[in-house]
Amino acid sequence: MDVSLLVVLIAALGIGWWLGQRESKQQRNSHFGLQADYYRGLNYLLNQQTDEALELFIHALEVNPQTVDTHLALGSLFRRRGEVDKAIQIHQNLLSGKGLDQEQVMLAELELAHDFIKAGLLDRAEELLLDVAQQPNQQKAKATELLVDVYQREQDWHKALKVGGAANVSASVDLAQRLSHFCCELAEQALQNSEEKECLSYLKRAKRHNVDNPRVSLLRAQLSMKQNHFFDAKKHLQTMAQQDLQLVPEIIEPLHLCYLKLDDAKGWQDWLNLAMSQHPSTSLLLAQAQEISQKDDSAAAAYMTEKLRQRPSLKGFNYLIDLHMQWASANAKDSLQVLKGLTVALQTSKPQYRCRQCGFAGNSMHWQCPSCHQWGSTKPIYGLEGE
Ligand SMILES: [Zn+2]
Repeated sequence: MDVSLLVVLIAALGIGWWLGQRESKQQRNSHFGLQADYYRGLNYLLNQQTDEALELFIHALEVNPQTVDTHLALGSLFRRRGEVDKAIQIHQNLLSGKGLDQEQVMLAELELAHDFIKAGLLDRAEELLLDVAQQPNQQKAKATELLVDVYQREQDWHKALKVGGAANVSASVDLAQRLSHFCCELAEQALQNSEEKECLSYLKRAKRHNVDNPRVSLLRAQLSMKQNHFFDAKKHLQTMAQQDLQLVPEIIEPLHLCYLKLDDAKGWQDWLNLAMSQHPSTSLLLAQAQEISQKDDSAAAAYMTEKLRQRPSLKGFNYLIDLHMQWASANAKDSLQVLKGLTVALQTSKPQYRCRQCGFAGNSMHWQCPSCHQWGSTKPIYGLEGE
């Protein structure tokens, strides 16, 4: 059913019920005007003039404790269909009404704050949410989560942590996950400013909020590498792989550097084999082939051919073309060059990462999805066109 029609039907039902209540209380004479509006609204509705019908219904629906739910349902539906200005109007109208109890006022303020967030009016949302969060009421937890949302959008990680940290973290896994990433954001800034002590302190806090956050392990590794502690860095990167096998392609390069610095070629080979058996990816396959090609290019090409038969991928195919190009005749080289031009163009036209929450795809790894703002939902794409 069309959403706007649904909105108007809710209003019509709400007003119809309310007028019925009034009639039963023998007050019908004073409500002829409203009844007329109601029937005119129904006429608009029958003629599919939903906007006109809705305007009349909102006018007819008096704000009182019995009609609060109808107003809230209307406002929420408008917000969901993207008409935030109408949602704001309904919720502001509700708050200007008389006779609402404390819980109803808090609920309406929460909904209005939700509208303001959606409209990008973050200052106004913050003001309302602080009011709800500071008073004892049933909406306190929801207000706190929305307040965290406001500070997150403003990228004010300190305020987000202060408000979110005061909430009962165990009550929400999602909030704990977000708080952990806020600490990681601050740790990243500290790392860039070479404030190593602060960086470590934020990472410890991040781990307390979410012990399995792979981003914490990656940042711990980056910090250790900056301090030339390659053994520790290796350990943190391997922990990250255990925390999320799908992110293994992200650690191959820094982990290889750690093994090189530790002069442990055998350890690197063993890890590659183990990782490949646990969660195969094209990046791992390329790293294995590069190891083989250091001694014997033709053995690397034979290995790639065999593996690509089992697990074909564009990236792997490009590397195989490169290997063959070295010893091909002039004619064959030309053909291979044309072929590679095509496969590279195909590969670069495909996104490398996708958000598991909303499907947003791109070529960069984001810890927070730029589209749905979810944390930790973006992963490398696996399959023929990706890993
Ligand atoms: Zn997303």
